[in-house]
Amino acid sequence: MFLKIKKINKHYSNTKVLNNVSFSIKKGEVISVVGPSGSGKSTILKSISGFCEIDSGTILLNSKSISEIEPSKRNIAYVFQDSPLFPHLSVIENILFNLKVFDHKKLNFLLKKIKIDHLKNRYPHEISGGENQRVAVVRSLIRNPELLLLDEPFSNLDLSIKEHLKELVFSIIKELKTTTIIVNHDIQDSLEVSDRILILLNGEIKSFDTPHSIYTKPKCLTSGRLFGLMNRINYDGDEFYCRPEHMNCTSSGLQLNVLNSKFTGPHYKITAQLNSEKIIFYDNKKYEKNEKIYINVAQKNKIYFY
Ligand code: ADP
Repeated sequence: MFLKIKKINKHYSNTKVLNNVSFSIKKGEVISVVGPSGSGKSTILKSISGFCEIDSGTILLNSKSISEIEPSKRNIAYVFQDSPLFPHLSVIENILFNLKVFDHKKLNFLLKKIKIDHLKNRYPHEISGGENQRVAVVRSLIRNPELLLLDEPFSNLDLSIKEHLKELVFSIIKELKTTTIIVNHDIQDSLEVSDRILILLNGEIKSFDTPHSIYTKPKCLTSGRLFGLMNRINYDGDEFYCRPEHMNCTSSGLQLNVLNSKFTGPHYKITAQLNSEKIIFYDNKKYEKNEKIYINVAQKNKIYFY
């Protein structure tokens, strides 16, 4: 394993923030850390980068213990929202700051690929927020980090800029095979870009698995709800949860009473009542209030928590 985190613990004053966190990742993997706000996601990245000191535990990068190494010597890049640039240095000076040797070909590749070649001689106050983040990414990658940590790097950007930048950054990371850990509250991104997703709840690892497994077989209701709606079905002694897209309207099955249908663009969002539970699902068709409809859920899509 390329990065091995063994039983790390961290507390701030009386609050335990990381509790015996252990996980390993392979070289070249892209991992997303997902969890509610305050669950300790950023603290994991800060512990790995050395920006915060852990109370106990071991961090091995490429078989070397890095816990005692100062942050600037760890060869780990850390990009966060609004990554600061030196205001008195140009874009290119910021990128190459303190670098004695670097690969010119790689620099040109990165500048072109991430589309900031034309901004090289501008100063930070002459570029946009999205461009600032592009510069921060290039500044990180030109240093050939062993590990790239991204802490919500796109969250302060407009949706239109964000989509494009995300695609660019993830295609470069994949092309360079850079081992990456990303903290992201955009769940869709985590599912799309990660090789594996780590779910953190109250400073403890709840799951660490592929996006498909994390989504379809959540370990608990809280984990499942991080990735979207979970309907609770309690019918005829069978109690389970299921995703809205796994509910199909049929001619027989569970009988629901429609409460409302709302047009959302791609489809109608139907809210209906089953016993005391409100159920939400999507359909191409609108149903009228109080209409009786039937729903079927395939056995493979039923989620049970024991
Ligand atoms: P997340 O990234 O999941 O939102 P964080 O790792 O930033 O969570 O924070 C975890 C917990 O630690 C939160 O309750 C936060 O308030 C607390 N915390 C983070 N940094 C500090 C700090 N420097 N001093 C005291 N408490 C902190």
